[in-house]
Amino acid sequence: MRAVVSPRRAVAGCLATLLAACAVSQQQEVELGANTAAQVDAQLPLVRDAAVVNYITSLGNQIAKVTDTRGLTWRFTVVDSREVNAFAIPGGWIYVNRGLIERAATMSELAGVLGHEIAHVTLRHSVQQMQQAQGANVGVALLCTLTGVCESGAGQAAVGIGGSALFAKFSRSDEREADAEGVATVVKAGIHPGGIPTMFRRLLNERKSNPGALDGFFSTHPLEEDRITSTEAQIATFPASQLQRLTKDTQAFQTFRRRLLALPPPPPPKKS
Ligand SMILES: [Zn+2]
Repeated sequence: MRAVVSPRRAVAGCLATLLAACAVSQQQEVELGANTAAQVDAQLPLVRDAAVVNYITSLGNQIAKVTDTRGLTWRFTVVDSREVNAFAIPGGWIYVNRGLIERAATMSELAGVLGHEIAHVTLRHSVQQMQQAQGANVGVALLCTLTGVCESGAGQAAVGIGGSALFAKFSRSDEREADAEGVATVVKAGIHPGGIPTMFRRLLNERKSNPGALDGFFSTHPLEEDRITSTEAQIATFPASQLQRLTKDTQAFQTFRRRLLALPPPPPPKKS
């Protein structure tokens, strides 16, 4: 656990400032992100393995650098949880749960998730989403919504009140925009975008058989069949010769994924 000085109060203060100002400067966005990320890092179990951290950082930056026009410092972190989830914090902090990476079959599938989350930051959906968080119990909300650790009735209630306020469901138009931007971005980064619809398909199929493991992801990223068809249609607009040159998978990704699978199991979910 890292010592964080009153992060909840710091975030609440930031939010009050944001709401008062109505327009969020980049500096405010980064401050809000830093405060929130400090709290996430203190509360969620993170994968600290150096090889894992290096790989996600390198792949994440490869994608972010081709789309970020604001010169943000990006941080990519793997959360040690079997729940499927990924989330973006304003200012450039991207978290991907171990459970999502373990389900990705190829580098292109993980890259698609990163491209989508990066787009929520560059398109400023994340900061708008967090602006709606006024009065949210930020600490409980983070713990509950990001890893699905709240299993008690009290925890569930906190998710309903605080959780939905902090990480509100992105609108369907935000999701469509982040998907389109994600496809364009991974292509620019030299990666095949086909992993975006195939990962969606995998998650939708699993939702039918094992809905609980995906609640966190679906609670903030509404995912329906039409997101698969629209990303496939977008990908079909690229010339086949261009798509053929893009990378679908790498040895480095498979080594990273095997390493993650071989790490000790995640800590059991905390009861709140
Ligand atoms: Zn999304």
